[in-house]
Amino acid sequence: MPVALLRGGLALGSTLRITMRVAKETVVAIEYTLKDDQGNIIDASGDRGPMEYLHGAQNIIPGLEQGVEGLVAGDTKSVLVPPQLGYGEYSEKLLQQVPLSAFGANTPQVGMRFHAETNLGMRVLTIKKIEGEEVTLDGNHELAGKTLHFDIKVVSVRAAELTELSHGHPHQSGGCCGGGGCGSGEGSGGGCCSSEEGSEGGCCSTEQPAQKSEGGCGSGGCGCSH
Ligand SMILES: [Zn+2]
Repeated sequence: MPVALLRGGLALGSTLRITMRVAKETVVAIEYTLKDDQGNIIDASGDRGPMEYLHGAQNIIPGLEQGVEGLVAGDTKSVLVPPQLGYGEYSEKLLQQVPLSAFGANTPQVGMRFHAETNLGMRVLTIKKIEGEEVTLDGNHELAGKTLHFDIKVVSVRAAELTELSHGHPHQSGGCCGGGGCGSGEGSGGGCCSSEEGSEGGCCSTEQPAQKSEGGCGSGGCGCSH
């Protein structure tokens, strides 16, 4: 074993392997399956390939990030994430009624989701109920109030590049999100893979409005504009 090897000094020609652990400022790729309390699969990296994220940069929900901390490539783990470390508790305060006329020529339907500017900033709103002329909008994340059961496998861990640290997300070949998936639905508070439903800028969009790229993203980089 390595320890015994080192006791006698490193043999010439031997390879010293440094195993990188998941920590702040590492870029981590994980495969995952996400289930609810009933064991139904909500999301999985599956065919999308591993999800890559910058550890410690709030790219993913806090509970999952904590669960991955300290692991090395090849590790598997089940991580239980309570709502407060996931997408938050379900809040009735995020329900609001608007008149049907607010939709103009569009015909709202229960379950429809769209982005809207609210007093809490840009949120994804879901049409929860339509009664007569009254439409109830729900600003909760679809996974709010849910305990999340992740089964994860760490695929790789590497040190983040300086540009990745300054951008707050990983860059890789194949574009910003690379083969990586976006996690569940709308990402947690911006960052790479912020949303599937037509968020402005899509992949690599963040809270900040898009600015001119400084061209620092490198070849095959993310094309992110901040
Ligand atoms: Zn970037």
